[in-house]
Amino acid sequence: MSELMKEKIVIFSGAGISAESGLRTFRDMNGLWNEYSVEDVASPAGWAANPSLVLRFYNERRKAVLEARPNAAHYAIAKLEERFNVVVVTQNIDDLHERGGSSTIIHVHGEILKARSSLDPALIYPLSTPDIELGDCCGKGSQLRPHVVWFGEQVLHMDEAEQHFATASKILTVGTSLSVYPAAGLVGFAKTSAEKYLVSPDSQEPPPGYRLLQGKATAVVPRVVTCWLEGRKPS
Ligand code: NAD
Repeated sequence: MSELMKEKIVIFSGAGISAESGLRTFRDMNGLWNEYSVEDVASPAGWAANPSLVLRFYNERRKAVLEARPNAAHYAIAKLEERFNVVVVTQNIDDLHERGGSSTIIHVHGEILKARSSLDPALIYPLSTPDIELGDCCGKGSQLRPHVVWFGEQVLHMDEAEQHFATASKILTVGTSLSVYPAAGLVGFAKTSAEKYLVSPDSQEPPPGYRLLQGKATAVVPRVVTCWLEGRKPS
């Protein structure tokens, strides 16, 4: 069956899906913001004030991503492609969905394994070394920065992501506090008739029309995937 004829599933993931791969979330108790200030390391003003601190912060994160492995949730999501047209919309900057085998992934907050020009945002480069250093320059001679969306910057590929939410018949949102906008607002573009779930280990309030499936991603996501592949609704 062609991809276009298959039923569409949107997976909307956040930092929590990669927590069991050893990558820390930003807002959990041991989240990174307890050690660093957002303004210092994830804003254009922080970059202007201290680019070497910002580069060091992301170089550390990049090393952690390179050492991490996809978990059962990432792998299960890729398995859905046996039967469905699956679009992964992720707020994550890691590449664990790619390495887990998913083929269509929209990174609305960028990708840590890429660098981009601080002069021209269209100049994006895959990184051949784990670190970006001061003095590493783009083709136009300006300093390279991480290809990551900072607070106050334009989120990427939102029109495309909205379109996928609006045309999906099933949506699985997993591992996100839904507190970083505008990305969190994507859940509101889903069809009323779509089957919609939020996977969280907490008693997190799901968005209107979504049902909470409480538990960790590696336990709940494979269960949902099995149900959908067998044509059942997850209970
Ligand atoms: P968040 O830190 O705000 O929220 C994480 C959510 O995941 C929480 O609701 C938490 O309860 C849940 N969670 C924790 N462990 C879980 C598990 N095992 N299974 C399922 N859920 C679990 O993350 P966010 O909503 O994605 O927003 C923060 C921003 O930080 C994002 O924009 C993202 O770009 C960035 N970030 C990315 C990474 C990454 O790429 N791996 C890591 C940290 C932060």
